[in-house]
Amino acid sequence: MATDLQIDVPKIVSVNPATGTVLRELGCAGENDVLAAVARARAAQGMWAEIGVRRRIAILREFQRRLHEKKSEIAEAITQEAGKPVVEALTTEVLVVLDATRFLIENAYRLLRDEPVPHGNLATKLKRGRLLREPYGVVGIISPWNYPFSIPATETLAALVAGNAVVLKPSAFTSLVALELKSLLHAAGVPQDIFQVAVGDGATGAALVHSQIDKLVFTGSLATGKRIAVAAAERLLPVVLELGGKDPMLVLDDADVEVASSAAVWGAFVNAGQTCLSVERCYVHRSLYELFLEACVDKTKKLIVNHGLEHNADVGPLIHQRQLQLVEEHVEDAKARGARVLAGGSRFPEMGANFYHPTVLADVTHAMRIMREETFGPVLPVMAFDSDEEAVRLANDSEFGLAASVFTREKTRGERLARQIQAGSVMVNDVVSCFGISEAPHSGVKSSGIGRTHGRFGLEEMVRLKYLDIDGMPGMKKVWWYGYGAKFAAQMDGFLNFEFARSAGERLRGARRAIGLVNRKQL
Ligand code: NAD
Repeated sequence: MATDLQIDVPKIVSVNPATGTVLRELGCAGENDVLAAVARARAAQGMWAEIGVRRRIAILREFQRRLHEKKSEIAEAITQEAGKPVVEALTTEVLVVLDATRFLIENAYRLLRDEPVPHGNLATKLKRGRLLREPYGVVGIISPWNYPFSIPATETLAALVAGNAVVLKPSAFTSLVALELKSLLHAAGVPQDIFQVAVGDGATGAALVHSQIDKLVFTGSLATGKRIAVAAAERLLPVVLELGGKDPMLVLDDADVEVASSAAVWGAFVNAGQTCLSVERCYVHRSLYELFLEACVDKTKKLIVNHGLEHNADVGPLIHQRQLQLVEEHVEDAKARGARVLAGGSRFPEMGANFYHPTVLADVTHAMRIMREETFGPVLPVMAFDSDEEAVRLANDSEFGLAASVFTREKTRGERLARQIQAGSVMVNDVVSCFGISEAPHSGVKSSGIGRTHGRFGLEEMVRLKYLDIDGMPGMKKVWWYGYGAKFAAQMDGFLNFEFARSAGERLRGARRAIGLVNRKQL
């Protein structure tokens, strides 16, 4: 009797978070698929490194042309899968990638070429030192769903231009956007095996971490980042970890309330608050507190919550129910501990299952989860402070240190406070947008991560530094080689005095004692 053999193949289901409509079902890459992808990448990478930076820059230029041509199509694909308003997909994703490509086209050749290392020590003057920047080989990239295009694309472009092959494991919630990136790169001339996408879940990501990649760039939550760090330590895999944040915004007593309130509302609600650099904590000088809250509430009530494809949408849905529940828990905890809800504070089921009203909370404290844990939702919690010192202390009272902002009319005062805040980036009189400045490094301190992406320092993460030293006198034994003895020790003592003694007389006597060094008898 014949029996049907049923094998459960895990599937990745891509869903529109605004409507719940299934967009596509995709196969989930298993461990063997990941290992095979990494092996193909390794086999192809040598040729990719060989073609040189200028040729790779030409391919980036073609990628940029194609992306510009398809900008609206890509923005809509992002909105379909991640929910954000199309205009945000254009500005915070497509524009960011177009500009990051511009940065690499303009700078990669200069930043990646060999660099002379002049020697200051007299004993090594006859050598020529150089720094070489060599690709790691295969770079694994694991990315989140909140910026499903700009995060993997900026990291991928830097890895590729430096001569690496890339295997990308996108978030299971935004696989289709990653496949759009793949099509664009391949159409621009990046060989199939040099950029591959392993669609999958956490297990697929874990398989990539355990594969023979040479470096990993991970962007995601602190919990996953810690798991990855442990796995990476097992085999000393170099990692960049871009993790969560709880970014503070300080509004000083001389701030322009009209400007600062607009910044707070945009910084808290852009991408429905699902931004690693979101304003997650807002501290306002007590003299402006009520005025500021009033302005924020007024502006928040004017925001239109809608499906991202609707052109009037300001705020879209959250990505999934788990995220919505977390936001709800944080707001309920704050309410129970005495926070005032001035706007929102509840779900928006009439719009769809994943929608939450943009929420303004007043009188929050650091005893509340909303001020300690990453909320990642459309909530602006506001707290009063009495002095600049207190504001800085509150800003630094967090396990995270991704970014921060200071609002003041006095730029030097803003800079003084910015220098005291523990964060990877601090903006004075702006929020969030440092992510879109292609020249600026993106990184966090404390639990917000290790290493950096973007700009010059992000590019440096994609290469191994090799120091090359060429001796200018191949026929000469080096003076520090064997042939030791009391005479040599005295000569070296003299040499040290010649180089480092403070008085001119001692230096001169040192030079006389060292003179025999060059023609001494050696092994
Ligand atoms: P997440 O940690 O749940 O997932 C991130 C990625 O890791 C996904 O692709 C996921 O499939 C994969 N993954 C899950 N478990 C894994 C494992 N054991 N091994 C390897 N990979 C695994 O994060 P998320 O919910 O997708 O993203 C939201 C988080 O990302 C927030 O905390 C946010 O602050 C953070 N984030 C940080 C930055 C930054 O630049 N610092 C930027 C965007 C998002």
